[in-house]
Amino acid sequence: MNRSDIFEKLANLEANINQINSDMGNLKNLTVEVIEENVALQIENENLKTLIDKEEKPKAVENGKKIPKKQPLRSKDNLAMLYKEGFHICNGELFGKHRKGDDCLFCLEVLSE
Ligand SMILES: [Zn+2]
Repeated sequence: MNRSDIFEKLANLEANINQINSDMGNLKNLTVEVIEENVALQIENENLKTLIDKEEKPKAVENGKKIPKKQPLRSKDNLAMLYKEGFHICNGELFGKHRKGDDCLFCLEVLSE
């Protein structure tokens, strides 16, 4: 291997590493997007469950039915868990986004409701 071959190989290797770095960055951004979308969907799901719960309870009482036992993990507990995991659960543009370690007063308000 002559010296110019070594330089060429090094240049190729550097280009490959740069490509891998760029792919890694893109993949990281994509993963963050997917996770945040997943969290947003989970929150919406919890909110819908809470709504259904509220709708069904008065009907059950009207019909003299026993109110079904509460599920062990309530919606608010799930929201609290997501907040603890580091995601926004407050409504608005931050909904489902990662908090990056910051506390959020709007989220805490949701939890205290
Ligand atoms: Zn928030």
